Amino acid sequence: MSELAAAQRIVVKVGSALLVGQDGAADGHWLHAFAADVARLRERGQQVLVVSSGAVALGRRRLSLGKRALTMPEKQAAAAAGQSALMRAWEEAFEPHGLAAAQVLLTRDDTEVRRRWLNARATVETLLSLGVVPVVNENDTVVTEEIRYGDNDRLAARVAQMIGADVLVLLSDVDGLYTADPRRDPGAEHLALVARLTPEIEAMAGGANAGAGMGTGGMATKLQAAKIASAAGCATVITLGHRSSPLAALEAGERATVIAPSTTPAAAYKAWIAGSVAPAGALVVDAGAAAAVRKGKSLLAAGVRRVEGRFGKGDAVVIRDEAGQDIARGLVRYDAPDAARICGLKSDAIEPALGYTAGPIVHADDLALGHAHEPG
Ligand code: GLU
Repeated sequence: MSELAAAQRIVVKVGSALLVGQDGAADGHWLHAFAADVARLRERGQQVLVVSSGAVALGRRRLSLGKRALTMPEKQAAAAAGQSALMRAWEEAFEPHGLAAAQVLLTRDDTEVRRRWLNARATVETLLSLGVVPVVNENDTVVTEEIRYGDNDRLAARVAQMIGADVLVLLSDVDGLYTADPRRDPGAEHLALVARLTPEIEAMAGGANAGAGMGTGGMATKLQAAKIASAAGCATVITLGHRSSPLAALEAGERATVIAPSTTPAAAYKAWIAGSVAPAGALVVDAGAAAAVRKGKSLLAAGVRRVEGRFGKGDAVVIRDEAGQDIARGLVRYDAPDAARICGLKSDAIEPALGYTAGPIVHADDLALGHAHEPG
């Protein structure tokens, strides 16, 4: 498994069944071994983000709810009580390795509404650059049934997409995808590599592997997650999580299924911008700025002649030259009134004019030349 060793950014999804024991308490042994795994990757200079379930499971015990089926409000109450226990377990596991954990609770809106997506991304980027391990979960306490992810496989894939991760590891109770149910069919073959997620492969998740993965999401949600990740330029690895130090085991060659990415993270991000829903406005730029943008450089306020439309910070806008030709799309760093106020200003005049600066109007990283399709 060379993907893991080569990756710069790794998202690891840890399910409740791994970190909560039969007694309903956090499994300190497993967590400590896993923390050692994470510490080893960090020492190699790799960035690791953990998507952790377990809030509801730990909350059950705290609230003495037993093993019965819970109503939605009870689940949310359990999540509220369990999330702090979950973070305490992570902190205790990371501390001996000199690692700090940071809690990030997301809802579906945070990964789907562009402005919130950008805010969440900025926070996670900052945490990673500070050497902290973000521990992400769904904010179960505030989401209703209709707007939930419901399973952390897809949440993990969206997070991988958000931070441009190269590898998403789904720690599971199966060691990957099989052509048939291995418990019943001795001829079942394990698939080590899925180069492309075809309808035939997806059908396998519904049939032969439906029972696999006893957590919230079975194999079908794992493949849905892999699909999101693949389109975002991220490889997905499905492997057994129960063994101690599962990441080290993976690198030592333990069984897994790797689902290849269909693009690169950078290309996927640009495609996401280019294929954005109707842009909210336009920035009309002078010839110098048009030439710079065509070369993929940031758009500075100094080169903007006119602002059209009503947009907020983080919205997609069209960048247009004075002849009326569309050059690019980008995510704008100022809302329309502020952008209008700084039109034509040099960068060091922005702060005096607005009382703050957010840098170039559109940063080169958030710029897509031409048009492409939404990666999904
Ligand atoms: N967010 C839920 C929890 O922390 C888990 C969802 C899942 O297991 O996929 O309990």
